[in-house]
Amino acid sequence: DMTQVYNFSAGPSMLPSLVLKQIQQELLEYGNSKASVMEISHRGADFLELAHKSERDLRDLLSIPDNYKVLFLQGGASAQFSMVPINLLRGKSKASYANTGQWSVKAIAEAKRYCEVSVCTDSSANNFTDIQDFEDWNIDPDAAYLHYTPNETIVGLEFDYIPDVEMPLVADMSSTILSREIDVSKYGVIYAGAQKNIGPSGLTIVIVREDLIGEVIAGQPKLFDYSTYSNNESMFNTPATFPWYAAGRVFEWLKDLGGLSAIQKINHTKAQTLYKAIDNSNFYSNPVSIKYRSWMNVPFLLADDSLNNLFLERSKEAGLLALKGHKSVGGMRASIYNAMPQEGVDALVNFMHDFERDFG
Ligand code: PMP
Repeated sequence: DMTQVYNFSAGPSMLPSLVLKQIQQELLEYGNSKASVMEISHRGADFLELAHKSERDLRDLLSIPDNYKVLFLQGGASAQFSMVPINLLRGKSKASYANTGQWSVKAIAEAKRYCEVSVCTDSSANNFTDIQDFEDWNIDPDAAYLHYTPNETIVGLEFDYIPDVEMPLVADMSSTILSREIDVSKYGVIYAGAQKNIGPSGLTIVIVREDLIGEVIAGQPKLFDYSTYSNNESMFNTPATFPWYAAGRVFEWLKDLGGLSAIQKINHTKAQTLYKAIDNSNFYSNPVSIKYRSWMNVPFLLADDSLNNLFLERSKEAGLLALKGHKSVGGMRASIYNAMPQEGVDALVNFMHDFERDFG
């Protein structure tokens, strides 16, 4: 057996160890199919059964209303930066975007290829460490939809509320989906790359209200039309079968754990543990407004950044992996998605304490 390590990668990231073991156990022969799940047809009975079960489990976990479709796509969240305007503009020429971080910036840049983008709030002046009060946002009433990023993975800035708007609300939930309870009925579209809280990379989940499907910009690729997938159980062409299967196993794991209300408590405690350690020290710091600190991605700076490399070397030796911060922020970042147990956060906090004592 390997010595215990905890992987703080921002994505692809840690998977639940129980799920990895289960995958290992069933990798060579899936059910009664006499072949690996990677080798069987997506249209065969065995795969269809797991596909249906995974969708039912995801619907249970998020209490997804019946008038929403769940799509299992490829292309990552980045493909949704294009698919959202292609599908949601629906004859309008303008969309509203909240600019709260590096992923918002990317979504906005892509939307500009299709429409006029009205930025309704902009956190760039404070380096994406705070969010303007919602009542002060400037949302253009002519916009076809409002797009925002509930959790900005790089800066660790997370909304603690859902913007309340009449127009369809679109959320890039890549790094927060399934981490806490949410009211899906408040949204027009929710999308997420799988590689943080769902499973391996290669799969993208889209949850879309039915009435928003079917009116796309003319001349765009068929593979960028939500109806291509909603009319074909996400099997118009070959889906990402292995990540889909693994995601299904993660959904089962999460249900066994007690669902989103249970993981929400665990995630809240994990985040509190880490922010408390940061705030109680003069050596570590996090610049994000306390109200909007992310539960999933916790960046922190060392008071002396010439110690960064030593911190990374020593933490790796201690079995704490992938703590290097994003280059645009510097310092460290601990991503503590659903699969990270409290013990992993406790081990990190202990390491940080010892490192500060020895070198701080
Ligand atoms: N949005 C957010 C919030 C992300 O964290 C990421 C990936 N880190 C992306 C979009 C891009 O996702 P993908 O690589 O799946 O296209």
